[in-house]
Amino acid sequence: MTITALRGRLLSFLAAPEGAGDAASYRYTSDGVVVVEDGRIARVGPAAEILPTLPAGAAVDHYPDDLILPGFIDAHLHFPQTQVIASYGAQLLDWLQKYTFVAEQRYGDPEFAERQAKWFLAELLANGTTTAAVYGSVHPGSAEAFFAESERLGTAMIAGKVMMDRHAPPALLDTAQSSYDDSKRLLQRWHGRGRQCYALTPRFAITSTEAQLEAAGALAREFPDAYVQTHIAENRKEIEAVRELFPDSRDYLDVYDKYGLLGPKTLFGHCIHLEERERQRMAETGSVAVFCPTSNLFIGSGLFPMRELARRDPPVRIAAATDVGGGTSYSMLRTLGEGYKVQQLQGTNLSALEAFHLVTAGNAEALGLQDEIGSIAPGRYADLVVLDARATAAMAHRMEAVAGDLEEELFILMTLGDDRSVKATYVQGRRMHEREGTRSRSPA
Ligand SMILES: [Zn+2]
Repeated sequence: MTITALRGRLLSFLAAPEGAGDAASYRYTSDGVVVVEDGRIARVGPAAEILPTLPAGAAVDHYPDDLILPGFIDAHLHFPQTQVIASYGAQLLDWLQKYTFVAEQRYGDPEFAERQAKWFLAELLANGTTTAAVYGSVHPGSAEAFFAESERLGTAMIAGKVMMDRHAPPALLDTAQSSYDDSKRLLQRWHGRGRQCYALTPRFAITSTEAQLEAAGALAREFPDAYVQTHIAENRKEIEAVRELFPDSRDYLDVYDKYGLLGPKTLFGHCIHLEERERQRMAETGSVAVFCPTSNLFIGSGLFPMRELARRDPPVRIAAATDVGGGTSYSMLRTLGEGYKVQQLQGTNLSALEAFHLVTAGNAEALGLQDEIGSIAPGRYADLVVLDARATAAMAHRMEAVAGDLEEELFILMTLGDDRSVKATYVQGRRMHEREGTRSRSPA
């Protein structure tokens, strides 16, 4: 058994914060230690209590000034869009044709996909993200390459090959039957293998025929514990196109509903322009609405109505995500910063506590993984991020005006922070990323 430990300022959420100042929603330990045994958190508590119990010579990674949080979780992004990020001047449907459908064709080459998977997962870790729900390209090899690299790293990832059999270049089309066969084969190979999980991934209603949505629904029935991920109500023209393609459906959500694709394991990217009936149906089926602020602003899609979705009874379940490459940053800190602005534009706001809860315990719960990840507690995987609120000159200068106020520090991190604020990232207690010159390892 390998024992390692991290020491620093520990922050973990116990419940969804009611708003700013909700001190009952989290546990903060100003000098805490997390003890890791075989990849999981064995014990956690104040350094004064824990350090004396460690075996002589046990290595402790000490971050005296930094915050240690559960690793970030990104509930929606696209593995084949790393070279599409920051593409100029198009809204959704044109953006797909002009940029994305060109870039994704390269992922038919397994060696290319393998190189990109390594780069992509390293970049997630450099941003403190340890779990993500990821779209592959249409090629089964893209999902295969992604899972293989994730397994090698020991990360918990959810992914799937995109299903799309119309309205894209021929090189990117599968068929209803081939998408069923390929998805099933990948699912049987990877779902529940170690920390990997499979998501059935019809891209969105526009690029799937009814036969393909039927195939996706059949797989969802055959494998009820697999995830489903797709897009909905991102852009007005997209919604119009869906209405024309599916004239018999009541609305956009009804298209997916008809094929049995709703439920607590379904992640719907965007949900910006849902009608009242759709919101109600999202809530009653426990489907998850995924908020992708940098993408929604960059592609000009609209403002995610987070408060309206959350205050329903029952509430719509909500997750947060980067949506790279429509999104403009791999950083969940940047995502929260832009998420705050999206709420400000709707006359409300997003407190730092709610924000950091959302990208840790909140997203874990949205993915049904709250017993495995998303909090610093015994039994959870030791997937952790070490955050430095003084990472840049401007941040350090701003922090001089903060006298030990945790919420203010968190707000500075989400407003000014990015990958430079990620001092280290741990997966199963192993340091998988380290910002240059940050190492401080001392014996217990
Ligand atoms: Zn997306």
